[in-house]
Amino acid sequence: MEPRDLSSHTVYQAGRGVEEVARELGLDPDDLVKLASNENPFGPSPAAVEAIKAAAESANSYPKASHADLTEKLADEWGVAPSQIWLGNGGDGVLDYLARAALDPGDRVLVPEPGFAYYAMSARFHHGEVAEYRLSKADDFALDAETVLGDYDGERVVYLTSPHNPTGGRFSLDAVATIADETDEETLVLVDEAYGEFADGPSAVELVDERDDVAVLRTFSKVYGLAGVRLGYGVVPEEWADAYARVNTPFAASEIACRAGLAALDDGAHAEKTVETAAWAREYMSETLDAPTWESHGNFVLAEVGDAEAVADQLQRRGVIVRDCSSFGLPECVRITCGTKAETRRAVAECNEVLAE
Ligand SMILES: *Cc1c(COP(=O)(O)O)cnc(C)c1O
Repeated sequence: MEPRDLSSHTVYQAGRGVEEVARELGLDPDDLVKLASNENPFGPSPAAVEAIKAAAESANSYPKASHADLTEKLADEWGVAPSQIWLGNGGDGVLDYLARAALDPGDRVLVPEPGFAYYAMSARFHHGEVAEYRLSKADDFALDAETVLGDYDGERVVYLTSPHNPTGGRFSLDAVATIADETDEETLVLVDEAYGEFADGPSAVELVDERDDVAVLRTFSKVYGLAGVRLGYGVVPEEWADAYARVNTPFAASEIACRAGLAALDDGAHAEKTVETAAWAREYMSETLDAPTWESHGNFVLAEVGDAEAVADQLQRRGVIVRDCSSFGLPECVRITCGTKAETRRAVAECNEVLAE
């Protein structure tokens, strides 16, 4: 026998890892600069590292107290009820819970193109169907209500990424509110703020307070440097709160993850350094890269380099790993994560040399 028909399902293409590339090229992993997956160049919050070590001792227990404590702390921070915080195995896990809670078989969702591949994957896992709204390069990938509503046709979930991956642009809160107003009562507007900490603007959580049709996604993978731990959360409308207990995997976030998350939230210095360095790197890249870039509010910059596959390949031979955006439908662009100052300077220098060849 075989699995069900998975032919409409796609495979997630992650950025390439340091170990993988080092082995392939016969290089020392320490000589490689990895700027392909929007990871934190400073590593995890040191406080989180300590918490993870300590939590190892209690790894035999189910994470009951830590799960509740983290939920409560996040609820406090955002001014919502604990039941409105949905922890998950990474932001991706939370996307699954929301799809599980929202979709009946055959329901449609609306996702951005180019955009984050997992929205569509998750919807399909949950027997949903996928339609796209197009961001236009000619229009600098503008994120506004008209772009989304122009392609909206009664979908059950509309995914907005703000700041957007891979372009770095963002929606105004007014645009999000307009989209929520103009879509059906039964449409959930899901605002993915995986990069929210890097943008200096208000979070759409403000709208979750006022309405029953907007939810927000956040993650510990980016600013807190905990991508390997897998921890994210949703902030959902009050009316949705009860659904979590009905759709989540019991103990959705591990003891290690919850303890790490609690510690990271208290480590303001690490987050601040990360955000400040990313802001510096965005500006540095846009000013010194010999290629057109788009204004970014995240910890990465999208650059138009011509043949992205060739440029990414050349850069990799020089020890700098960036993301070829062909899988996003942008074969002429690479996405470069904001590194430390030294990493960012090296990436730009190597990239400019490759472009000059
Ligand atoms: C990184 C990212 C996420 C979440 O990643 P997790 O590691 O699963 O938390 C969600 N959305 C976008 C757009 C991302 O780039």
